[in-house]
Amino acid sequence: MTEQLEPMPTDWQRALAVVAHPDDLEYGCAAAVAGWTDAGREVTYLLASRGEAGIDTIAPQECAPLREREQRASAAAVGVSAVEFLDHRDGVIEYGTALRRDIAAAMRRHRPELVITLNHRDTWGGVAWNTPDHRAVGRAVLDAAGDAGNRWIFPELGLEPWDGVRWVAVAGTDRPTHAVDATPGFERAVHSLLAHRTYIEVLTDEDPEAYCRTFLTGATGSATERFGGRPAVAFEVFPR
Ligand SMILES: [Zn+2]
Repeated sequence: MTEQLEPMPTDWQRALAVVAHPDDLEYGCAAAVAGWTDAGREVTYLLASRGEAGIDTIAPQECAPLREREQRASAAAVGVSAVEFLDHRDGVIEYGTALRRDIAAAMRRHRPELVITLNHRDTWGGVAWNTPDHRAVGRAVLDAAGDAGNRWIFPELGLEPWDGVRWVAVAGTDRPTHAVDATPGFERAVHSLLAHRTYIEVLTDEDPEAYCRTFLTGATGSATERFGGRPAVAFEVFPR
């Protein structure tokens, strides 16, 4: 029998999900988020950019507010009302202390026990090359979980250290360790992805809802064999 994924920890109250772009959380994670907010947990989204370089036919200054609106609607579909943006520049987000500082500041303000991010490695499953923004943000999140707890790192923020991050869970990884049943949140996850309508309409000629459903069925189906036959959102969990 294939080695099974552990269920994600449930003994926590606050999560902070930090990703590079609007839509990064909707290509899979949102089904897990819907289940968490159902259970009364607080989830905050932090986006490093506004995804303003994401649509070829729409210039960045016009695109940024549009994608921000779609991201807020998308978050609301899975019970998330707190959505923040850091305004790093889409497409050229730099890994470095400026990014770590911004993420550590959010951790100190929101005091999450669980932090979620997206694939920080060079490739998607050793096949497709990952984008520099995802790599930069994913790595900065893993690092900032430590920075946030050290009062001598970024003291200029004037915020109390937060050493309470217990796990950083990376989605979209080819080395998953844990998973969440995607079934209860699946329909809301479809609507959450569908909320990025402008982006999706440019991306595909397919009916947008059919596209979202097919994508998420595939994404949550890939971990099924390792999670008791259930569709699942898989994470690579780094305990702290
Ligand atoms: Zn992205």
